[in-house]
Amino acid sequence: MSGIKTMESVKDPSIFSQVGSMGHEQVVFCHDEPTGLKAIIAIHNTVLGPSLGGTRLWHYTSEEAAVTDVLRLSRGMTFKAAISGLNIGGGKAVLIGDVSLKTEAFLRRFGRFVESLGGRYVTAEDVNMKTPDMEYIAMETSHVTGLPEMKGGGGDPSPITAYGTYLGIKSSAKKAYGKDSLTGKKIVVQGVGQVGTYLVDLLIKEGANVFITDIYEDKLIDVAKQTGAQVISASSVYDFPMDIYAPCALGGTLNDDSIPALTCDIVAGAANNQLEDDNVHGRMLMDKGILYAPDFLINAGGLMNVYAEFMGNYKKEVALKQAEEIYATNLRVLNQSEESGNTPQQTAMDIANKRISSMAKVKLAF
Ligand code: NAD
Repeated sequence: MSGIKTMESVKDPSIFSQVGSMGHEQVVFCHDEPTGLKAIIAIHNTVLGPSLGGTRLWHYTSEEAAVTDVLRLSRGMTFKAAISGLNIGGGKAVLIGDVSLKTEAFLRRFGRFVESLGGRYVTAEDVNMKTPDMEYIAMETSHVTGLPEMKGGGGDPSPITAYGTYLGIKSSAKKAYGKDSLTGKKIVVQGVGQVGTYLVDLLIKEGANVFITDIYEDKLIDVAKQTGAQVISASSVYDFPMDIYAPCALGGTLNDDSIPALTCDIVAGAANNQLEDDNVHGRMLMDKGILYAPDFLINAGGLMNVYAEFMGNYKKEVALKQAEEIYATNLRVLNQSEESGNTPQQTAMDIANKRISSMAKVKLAF
């Protein structure tokens, strides 16, 4: 096995202790007074290739919260790339602050920090970062993906993330119900942002009974009008009588408080790091008989899209074809989990770790 450990609750909050427990290679703190830039770039593992992962802009409640987020997110990218058969490693960046900071100078300054890593980290979109932001970053570095299609890039990865997540929900339904039809299933989509909105569309087209929630009321009303989904309040999500819960907002929503309230059959969504603690909360779901589709597996469509761009000569069909494999990979993980008694999250991590450690040996040859 490689040095990548499973996620335990981080007991000691010091940075080296966290980095040590999760196995990161490098963490870079970037600061620029004039633009207000405070960024952290975390490179988790580069055995399979350069680290690739999006940049998230978020108003973190503390710098510690930003560190924990970037460490967990970058580690998730390692697992995501490995289980998806991609030849890239795991990395991620967070920008501390809100969208009002996003000026040309701010984004280009960040681009220069990415450039300074010489290609060990390649960036892309994540929460609050969009394709035009990538264009500014690209003025300072070539280590960027998610550029507009008209400029040879793969464009917004969110539709392919949503498509892969949809296939992950369907294969989870196949496992739980014996058939993958979502017609008539009550599905709650939490977060109707870039991914959630596309996902709602796909689910409604299949005849699912979709309920949506978001912290922004105007977004909710728009999406409800466009798709016919029904709005529920953000606070009523967990005890809502639903068949499937699809977290598509931020991570950590599966925890000691939410899991006891859940009565659904399946949790499958696009958000990264849905389990507050992989071991504890993955097990809690399993003990309740709730099927959990590993987030890093079923939300990998966007990474496949930026990977196709990273490899050059981008073709959407290539990324879509790859995203279709999410259905079978998820079903394989859920079947193996049932056979072994390990949680789906642990099963998927083991598969990812196995590929990384075997490829590390291959790379030892001249
Ligand atoms: P986004 O910022 O466009 O959407 C997130 C939405 O969640 C926003 O509308 C926000 O208002 C809402 N939200 C935040 N907190 C909430 C809460 N407590 N309750 C309800 N809604 C809440 O981001 P996105 O790009 O759609 O990504 C969503 C999730 O999917 C993130 O966790 C992201 O890391 C993950 N993800 C995204 C991609 C991608 O291609 N964009 C790929 C893989 C994973």
